Amino acid sequence: MHAAVVSLFPELVAMSLDVGVTARAMRSGVLSCQLLNPRDYASDERNSVDDRPFGGGPGMVMMFEPLRRATEDAKAEVPAHSPVIGLSPQGQRFDQRLAEELAALPGFVLVAARYEGVDERFLASEVDRELSIGDYVLTGGELAAMVVIDAVTRLLPGALGNPQSALAESYEAGLLDWPQYTRPDVAGGVAVPPVLLSGDHGAVARWRRQEALRRTWQRRPDLLLERPLDAVDRKLLADCLAEERATAT
Ligand code: SAM
Repeated sequence: MHAAVVSLFPELVAMSLDVGVTARAMRSGVLSCQLLNPRDYASDERNSVDDRPFGGGPGMVMMFEPLRRATEDAKAEVPAHSPVIGLSPQGQRFDQRLAEELAALPGFVLVAARYEGVDERFLASEVDRELSIGDYVLTGGELAAMVVIDAVTRLLPGALGNPQSALAESYEAGLLDWPQYTRPDVAGGVAVPPVLLSGDHGAVARWRRQEALRRTWQRRPDLLLERPLDAVDRKLLADCLAEERATAT
């Protein structure tokens, strides 16, 4: 995966590339990420990248030309036809499905803005799509770029020590993850569910599936509406709901 990020604070993005799974992916060549600063593409002595909005009002707007030049160079760092993605609270909401979509591409360019955002003409001429990491406003797109790169990287073949990890996470199968336990058997006075110590792999798999269904039902029932359950899952969920009704009475 070849990524490039256009940002006024590349050092912020670099920090996340330098740790954990992302750093390992960079070292092994699974991921490459070039960082380009629009300030290096400014044309005046003060290296200006922003100016006051036409029509007045608060704040500053990122200027067209430094952004365009930085983005053109960023495009040269990634495979041809890689999309240019603007990070914006007005964009399509980023989720696991979009992370999978991006992970299947050979590359992409992320544009992280600051101030009040970017000149609309830059969006119209250079940006293929806009992504938001949630319905809130950050001071800049760098954290959003870090989120996108992190979520995508862990889906790339060879990025995780055990590729099964990515398949067993929340949202991968349209469900939240099941509860996890590690040693010791009893912690904080609470014993680990006995089935996990049984050595019965079939029973463990069934328990995990049922707990994933239970959690999703309790915390994110909307996910269950999005993807119809098969007969086995319906039975597992019905059993655990019956069990909960029985304990409640
Ligand atoms: N005036 C813009 C608006 O109301 O839509 C917000 C500008 S925000 C202060 C500065 C920059 O941070 C944005 O242009 C974008 O790059 C980034 N940003 C802020 N919130 C974001 C979010 N939820 N998702 C992705 N990027 C975001």
